[in-house]
Amino acid sequence: MTSFFEEETTLFADLILPVPIPSLFTYRVPREMTALIKVGARVIVQFGQKRVITAVVARLHSNPPVKYQAKYILELLDEQPIVTTRQLELFNWVSEYYLCNIGEVLNVALPAGLKITSQSRIQLNPEFQYEELLTEQEKLVVDDIKKHQTLSYEEVERLLQKSNITAIIKSLVGKRAVILYEEVKERYKPKVARKIRLTSTYLTNDSLGKLATSLDKTPKQQEILLKYLSYIPVYNNPDLNQKGLDKSIFTQDDGVSDASLNTLIKKGIFEQFEIFISRFDDIPTGNMGAITLTDSQIQASREIHDHFKDKEVVLLHGITGSGKTEVYIELIKQVLESGSQVLFLLPEIALTTQIVVRLRKVFGDVMGIYHSKFSDNERVEVWKGILDGKFQFVVGVRSAIFLPFDNLGLIIVDEEHETSYKQHDPAPRYNARDVAVIMSYMHKGKTLLGSATPSLESYYHAKSGRYGLVEMTQRFGNAALPTFELIDTKKEKKQKKMKNEFSSVLVDHLQLNLKNKEQTILFQNRRGYSPYLQCEECNWISECANCDVSLTYHMKVSELRCHYCGHKEEVPRTCPNCGSSKVKTMGYGTEKIEDEINLMFPEARVQRMDLDTTRAKNAYQQIIQEFEDGGIDILVGTQMVSKGLDFDNVSMVGIFDADRIIHFPEFRASERAFQMLTQVSGRAGRRADKPGKVLIQTANPSQKLLERIVTNDYHGMYESEIIEREKFSYPPFTRLIKVTVKHIDEAVSNRAAKILAEKLTANLGASRVLGPQPPLVERVRNQFLFDILIKLEREKINFKAAKSFIQEKVIDTLTDKTLKSIQVVIDVDCL
Ligand code: ADP
Ligand code: ZN
Ligand code: ZN
Repeated sequence: MTSFFEEETTLFADLILPVPIPSLFTYRVPREMTALIKVGARVIVQFGQKRVITAVVARLHSNPPVKYQAKYILELLDEQPIVTTRQLELFNWVSEYYLCNIGEVLNVALPAGLKITSQSRIQLNPEFQYEELLTEQEKLVVDDIKKHQTLSYEEVERLLQKSNITAIIKSLVGKRAVILYEEVKERYKPKVARKIRLTSTYLTNDSLGKLATSLDKTPKQQEILLKYLSYIPVYNNPDLNQKGLDKSIFTQDDGVSDASLNTLIKKGIFEQFEIFISRFDDIPTGNMGAITLTDSQIQASREIHDHFKDKEVVLLHGITGSGKTEVYIELIKQVLESGSQVLFLLPEIALTTQIVVRLRKVFGDVMGIYHSKFSDNERVEVWKGILDGKFQFVVGVRSAIFLPFDNLGLIIVDEEHETSYKQHDPAPRYNARDVAVIMSYMHKGKTLLGSATPSLESYYHAKSGRYGLVEMTQRFGNAALPTFELIDTKKEKKQKKMKNEFSSVLVDHLQLNLKNKEQTILFQNRRGYSPYLQCEECNWISECANCDVSLTYHMKVSELRCHYCGHKEEVPRTCPNCGSSKVKTMGYGTEKIEDEINLMFPEARVQRMDLDTTRAKNAYQQIIQEFEDGGIDILVGTQMVSKGLDFDNVSMVGIFDADRIIHFPEFRASERAFQMLTQVSGRAGRRADKPGKVLIQTANPSQKLLERIVTNDYHGMYESEIIEREKFSYPPFTRLIKVTVKHIDEAVSNRAAKILAEKLTANLGASRVLGPQPPLVERVRNQFLFDILIKLEREKINFKAAKSFIQEKVIDTLTDKTLKSIQVVIDVDCL
């Protein structure tokens, strides 16, 4: 009986497919795979009619699915798991907490290089007989397939010198001349270096001598040999030959041709071989990392250690320039020595620069870097490097949280207040800082959050004792915090002293700074030349056709652009509404500031740093480098200029439009304004011998928040804000879930949102459900949006149950036949 049963047992695998479907899918494991397949390995399966996709094994068992006939797994890609069980646990947690599908989590987690793509190929139908039916072009294709067995689409395109060949292929398929099939391709390619070395025959001095003479008649070949020996003195030390020499050294050389080298290889004198090399080799490593910690850094390290004895999370609140990096480094070293892994998270933009170079100097090759501007191949290398144990330490952006760690001792989240840790779109809408805390917990490790301007949430947890709190209040080397000056733009306007956007005070200081050869950062948190165009005659305003926002004027490229949907238009010469030529730019962005500086100070070297100037892979880094090297006098930028940068020679920061930041219509505006303005101010005066100055232009210098920024009074800001938050039930006292309904018909969208809100209110109560109301920008990409904001108290409420309830009601609404094709997005812990 037993043996009969065993015979019949088939293995099934529950797979995570990287697609937005709510459940795992069960596939049948082919017999020849059963001994090899493991949880965490990638497999290839057919999904739907045509698609072939990569999936990851989440579970193996022997229960066939009830509702459908399981298909066979087509291929097993990994002998060893590439997703760890800890990761599977985490993916699950993320999908449950953020109310999304686990496939969506897998999709952001796996670098594209680990996902397999399929490519259609064309082969001849062996039963095809009617060649006379083919057109001339089709015949060409068929003949070529006969020559090559199979062709890819691109090959057919090249053959016919046409870019659209689908019609021809379709016709060929229709005539049953060819068959299409999917070939699976792995995208990741390790980077290799081609090398050459002497074959073993020539490793004795005797044979080497003879060889050299024998090449007398072929001077080019002799030259190659001598050059090789000059790099690798084999006659002194034959072992050196093993490592060989880059082939490119010979082929790049003018005098020596490829041909000669190839002849030497053919003759069996040299042999070729390849080695895998790391893609991170061009970031310098070295042992110049030794730094002595200051007393306050030692003190901070000690306190962190003490807190970790009984707390899972510690918040390091250290003012800008207090030297937090060195405290991190000390801690990372200790954790690595204990044999555990470390993950260091940074906001996207801060990652390409100084701090990475600093860390690499200390940690060298055990450190992997995970960044979205890196290629897929580089990301796969980090992924595999962690699995192999090559990288014990990874510095990365938010998605690095999904790397295959199995033994994390510590996660550091630097600049923990940064909103870029939150992914807005697509799902999973996770916050990497919060996931880090959970993940450390799963690994029984610790989390260190660091910031000069902590988020209210984290500071609240620290104050209430949930997190440990460590504060550093001195800048390194006794450098002073910058002094502030608030410039009253209202007053200057009255006195007619403003030059466009520039107050006379700012202009004077710019002049002085240029004269003293000191650097300046100018901050305007808005890119483009001006946020809109307006007609003076009829008040027409440039607006996006797809969204309810004005189109930003970009002067350099002479375009109007929508910052929401990317829509672009030519700049109208006259008003499209009334034909008047009095179309003016209104408001100002970084481009205009840059432009005006160039007019006022033609001799100054000005550079702009915003999304528009940093799209290319290394652009950001190049600007930073140039600024560091003193090649730029004035750097104009958006908040990009504030992210963790450390410059020696910046003695002044000028801030435009502080009021717009402070009065942004949002409950977090004060907190954000404090963070943003403090961070950008913190770029000034980081050396003890060069005190810094910050000039803030405002129409209302007596605002309380400005006073708090000027006096670096984080605690004051915190105390007054936290009272407001409690009073109006906002985080950290509640958790916010935003449900957004979208539809191209405003009425449908509105009705659906109202129905959903009513359903939610019925159970949650009116005080917990706000809206529906349109967001600031009511229409984006032609969809009308309505937000419902749900506030759930941290205590008292069963968060999980409440979320299930919300999800249920959302599904009800989505499947309501009277509400056709609406979309609903749920954002848990929305920002
Ligand atoms: P934070 O991140 O807290 O703003 P940083 O870590 O960037 O500050 O440190 C500020 C500056 O002080 C950096 O230039 C750093 O190299 C320097 N620094 C910090 N600690 C030390 C130390 N112990 N010895 C020498 N230089 C230090
Ligand atoms: Zn007009
Ligand atoms: Zn738009």
